[in-house]
Amino acid sequence: MIPASFEYTVAKDLANAVELLARSGGEAKLLAGGQSLIPLMRFRLATPSLLIDLNKVPGLNGIAENGELRIGALVREADLEANALVRQRYPILVDTTQVIADPLVRNLATVGGNLAHADPANDHPATMLALRASVVARGPKGERVIPIDELFVDTFQTSLKPDEILTEIRIPKAKPRSGGAYMKLERKVGDFAIAAVAAYLTLDDGGKVSSAGIGLTNVGATAIRARKAEAALVGRAPDEKAIAQAAAEAAAAAQPFGDTRGPAEYKRDVVRVLTGRAIRIALARAKGGA
Ligand SMILES: Cc1cc2nc3c(=O)[nH]c(=O)nc-3n(C[C@H](O)[C@H](O)[C@H](O)COP(=O)(O)OP(=O)(O)OC[C@H]3O[C@@H](n4cnc5c(N)ncnc54)[C@H](O)[C@@H]3O)c2cc1C
Repeated sequence: MIPASFEYTVAKDLANAVELLARSGGEAKLLAGGQSLIPLMRFRLATPSLLIDLNKVPGLNGIAENGELRIGALVREADLEANALVRQRYPILVDTTQVIADPLVRNLATVGGNLAHADPANDHPATMLALRASVVARGPKGERVIPIDELFVDTFQTSLKPDEILTEIRIPKAKPRSGGAYMKLERKVGDFAIAAVAAYLTLDDGGKVSSAGIGLTNVGATAIRARKAEAALVGRAPDEKAIAQAAAEAAAAAQPFGDTRGPAEYKRDVVRVLTGRAIRIALARAKGGA
């Protein structure tokens, strides 16, 4: 199908983008990589009267570790995957980006767009929940920081206001003895997840878990933070008994529904199995072994 007619403009900088967005009175959509928005427009599931192209806005493409890891909203998946700092210190992000769609999509799709789109099937939200990230939003009244736990409101709905632009993702700096992993089961390469799990752990000097983050993909209206699964690990030695308990809690936190990717009970068990696997890889990485 051909999209409904719309106006198109290129924002020259962030202030210009904010101004154009505010002036549109909620009728405009921001265009980043276009990998979710353009398909929606072609199905006429989105009919914005104006597209504000962010791609020429300077300053949104950086990846830097400075107290925390800061990822510009316009960083492409392909650039995240190739980044040396990310590959060395945040392998959970590499796990995540390299299972998103296919290389052609990843050349255009942005990390900010993946989060702002708030599709429960998207892969970054669960990882960002596990990492306790936050996002920076810029609007006419200035900048605010939104903890990731407050970002995803419902399917395709975030707490970003209609006149706000997501400009940056902030991730707490990787501590010593920390590690994470993202495990996804898909029907075929490039597909959205049947279910996927992000796990991020920090160990104390004695080898016990001092903090844990577990996020679930495509088993609910939004990405889900499995808090009871996290609690099953914290303060304990991460032995097989603790891992099995955390995996069972993650499965209990999932709220899947049956569809062409499988029945709800199957997806729930996929969450259980993937949680165990993600925790084991996260542990190996935290100990410096993977
Ligand atoms: C064939 C195919 C397969 C896919 N498979 C996967 C997959 O396996 N896993 C996965 O996670 N995703 C997948 N996707 C979806 C897509 O890759 C992501 O949703 C994508 O990362 C969105 O980013 P984008 O930059 O393309 O956003 P766009 O399509 O440009 O925008 C998406 C939405 O976010 C808004 N937006 C974008 N940037 C901002 C911003 N900075 N501030 C505020 N709002 C903003 C837009 O207005 C729009 O509403 C797939 C897409 C395709 C086409």
